[in-house]
Amino acid sequence: MIRCVSCGAEYDDDEVIYTCEKCGSVLELVSDIDVSKDIFDGRRDTLWKFKECIPVDESKIVSLDEGGTPFCKCDKLGEELGVNLYVKVEGSNPTGSFKDRGMTVGMTKAMELGVSTVGCASTGNTSASLAAYAARAGSRCIVFLPSGKVALGKLAQAMFHGAEVMSINGNFDEALEAMTALALEKHLYLLNSINPYRLEGQKTIGYEILRDLDWQSPDRIILPVGNAGNISAIWKGVSEFYNAGFVKDLPMMTGIQAEGACPVTNAFRKGDRRVVPVENPETIATAIRIGAPVSDIKALNAIYDSNGYSETVSDEEILDAQKLLARTEGIGVEPASAASIAGLKKLVDQGVIDKGETITCVVTGHLLKDPNTAIDACTKPTEVDADIDTLRKLLMNK
Ligand SMILES: *Cc1c(COP(=O)(O)O)cnc(C)c1O
Ligand SMILES: [Zn+2]
Repeated sequence: MIRCVSCGAEYDDDEVIYTCEKCGSVLELVSDIDVSKDIFDGRRDTLWKFKECIPVDESKIVSLDEGGTPFCKCDKLGEELGVNLYVKVEGSNPTGSFKDRGMTVGMTKAMELGVSTVGCASTGNTSASLAAYAARAGSRCIVFLPSGKVALGKLAQAMFHGAEVMSINGNFDEALEAMTALALEKHLYLLNSINPYRLEGQKTIGYEILRDLDWQSPDRIILPVGNAGNISAIWKGVSEFYNAGFVKDLPMMTGIQAEGACPVTNAFRKGDRRVVPVENPETIATAIRIGAPVSDIKALNAIYDSNGYSETVSDEEILDAQKLLARTEGIGVEPASAASIAGLKKLVDQGVIDKGETITCVVTGHLLKDPNTAIDACTKPTEVDADIDTLRKLLMNK
């Protein structure tokens, strides 16, 4: 069953519907977990090991073996900050971001519904992922990208997997509005995160974190927030497993935004449950350069219901954290992902996070998604002849 998160109106699973017909709010799937957690044991570690908890037709699955991502204990960084730190590395998914978890379920639903064309607006990763899954499914794929604001790796993926790419003169929010209008005219099936099936895939990040901690909840999950689907999905996942009795506690959901694109943090500071859109969002972390998040209600509910928090970080803090994670722990992430680490650091400094807390930071996308930002942050390699004496001198003088 699909249910409106605001007025509770109910819709059939097979209705192609993105917002509530009665009140215009966002929708969610209602699922009841009536299996034992033991059934997941011994299965291959992909998202579909949780298939009983994902409401789509198993015979139609479109998968690239997404999910089952690394869960790295980060003792060096953790000790520096005084917390027990684990990093969930979503850049290890097939196209290099967590969006694959949403797309495997979204494309599977598209197959079930028998649609032939799928589409999305994207800051980059959604389009890279959809293009790959549409290719796998044999669907036509249309993507709208904000002109000039998409990181190089993501653009390369969307084009290379054969999506029809339109570069929209406008920002992400405007591109999404146009794509949504075309979806409502039934020209295509919309696979942005307003589609509740996307979040049914992404909720498995929450499942896996609890499983990775041997069926315990961390005190806190920290992640970057853009369109606010992922924080909503992870909260749905951990809540489902909590309600099923698989764990005894729930984590505090902690959403980090960029200073130049922070409608959710602004609403949190005022205690509101809806955002006031930010007109011209700007940040180096292009994946979270979003002014009007569609899942604002769900995300703010998640933060309040979990006794969580929201904070902003500057672009400089993001780039520092990106480098820190890469150089102290060997984990390479794109700028948006580093917002979670930057946020952790800031909230420890502010005393919002207590010493000794068990924290999971979700790092959402791979370093190579945005190679230009990475190269700009480094000094150029020294050019030198392949002469052993010169090289020895250079190395020994360091
Ligand atoms: C999509 C994305 C985000 C933001 O997730 P939302 O669900 O839009 O809040 C953060 N980081 C990366 C790398 C992403 O691709
Ligand atoms: Zn409603």
